[in-house]
This record gives sequence, C-alpha cells and structure tokens, in this order.
Amino acid sequence: MYIDVRNLKKSYYLHDKEIPVLKGISLTIKKADTISLTGPSGVGKSTFLHLLGTLDAATSGNIMYDQCNIQTLSDPEIANFRNKNIGFVFQFHHLMSEFSALENVMMPLLMRHTSRKLAQDKARSVLSFVGLSERVDHKPGELSGGEQQRVALARALVHDPALLLADEPTGNLDEKTGQDIVDLILRYNQTYGTTVFLVTHNQRIGALFHQRLVLDSQGLRSCV
Ligand code: ADP
Ligand code: MG
Repeated sequence: MYIDVRNLKKSYYLHDKEIPVLKGISLTIKKADTISLTGPSGVGKSTFLHLLGTLDAATSGNIMYDQCNIQTLSDPEIANFRNKNIGFVFQFHHLMSEFSALENVMMPLLMRHTSRKLAQDKARSVLSFVGLSERVDHKPGELSGGEQQRVALARALVHDPALLLADEPTGNLDEKTGQDIVDLILRYNQTYGTTVFLVTHNQRIGALFHQRLVLDSQGLRSCV
C-alpha cells in the first residue's frame, strides 16, 4: 500500500488545555516499503501509528492510502477499510487466554464471516509461516513469550493486510527473541510485499529497515 501523509497534526485536549503532540508531519511511504520509527519516549510515536492505522483521527492534515482519502469515508467505512487493509502488532500480545493459538488466529477471519474451514486453513498456513505448526493447539499460557508474540503476528497477518503496523513489538522480549520476530516481519514483507511500519526503541532493529525515521521534539526526520 502506498501512503501519503500531508502536514498531519494531532493535539490532545485535557480540561480544555491543548497538548500538541504531532506538529505537522509529512511523509511518503512506497508500496512494499519497510519503515522503522525511533525516538524518545512520549514524543508521539504511538500517536502517529494510531493515526496511520485509522484508530484515531488527526486534528488537521490528511493521510491518503493508495487513492483512498480517508477523510471522505464514514466511520463504518473507515472500520471496514481498517479491517480489510491493516494488521496491528503491539508490545503486549493481547491474545485470548481461553483459546488455542489456532483459534486466536482464526478469530479475525470468523469475525469477517469467513467460513470455518477456510479460516482454519488460512490460520494454519500463517502459523506455519511464523514457525508454529507444532503449537497450534497450545493456549497462550502454554507458549513462551516469543511464541505468544509470533501468534499475535500471525493473527495480524491472517487477512493478508496491505499494511502492517507494529508498535514496539519486541519491547517485551529479549534481544534474540525480538530479533526473530523482526526477521519474520521482514521475511513476510519480502514474500508478500506488505508495507511495514514499525516503532522500536532498539536502534539495531531500526537499522534493518529500508526507510529509517526519527521523531523528536523537532519533528520527523529521515536518518539514512
Ligand atoms: P510515544 O509512543 O512516542 O512514547 P505517545 O504517542 O504515546 O508517545 O504519547 C505522546 C504524548 O501524548 C505524551 O506526552 C502523552 O502523554 C500524550 N498522550 C498520549 N495519549 C493521550 C491521550 N489519550 N490524552 C492525552 N494525552 C495523551
Ligand atoms: Mg509508544
């Protein structure tokens, strides 16, 4: 997915007091590109990722996805757009503890009214991609931290999103396990051409991405 961000601003309001966070971000993301974003805590990285993911609306400015201007869509249309096109991974996996890995990964497809058979086949295939064919019947509590995050990655990818957004997906993992997750994300990008935007604290991980961005109090800049 091609993305064009134009002069994006975001403020939060607490007790009528404006808290400006993003002060005019512009950025072009090419189809199938991989982008990492680093920067100090509290600078607005998650805020920006939420805007890119249509989870929140900007105060002003605009984001175009391919030829789609999100501002012209109604809320249900935006939700449809998000469900169809975007996958999310966060620092914490948010898996449902009562359900197996397979069921957790099937869930987004079942919610989109895909048949059980098709959802199961697709979930097995993406769990195999993340190396968990032998763990499909395990519940989250019966998996290691790295395996849980790989299930969360499979769940984010099961509907073939054009855009994968990852907010500190390795923040809760040791160096090696985190690296494995990033390797999988980059291999998925190479195989399927999914555009990837990843926020990380880890400079070494950030350096593995094609476009490296830094957000600080001065705004967004490219560091290549
Ligand atoms: P980062 O991900 O870079 O650590 P965030 O995007 O989470 O930063 O937050 C950026 C700033 O916006 C912080 O100062 C934070 O306190 C503030 N902020 C985030 N979410 C809200 C909110 N819902 N209401 C008010 N302020 C918020
Ligand atoms: Mg954050």
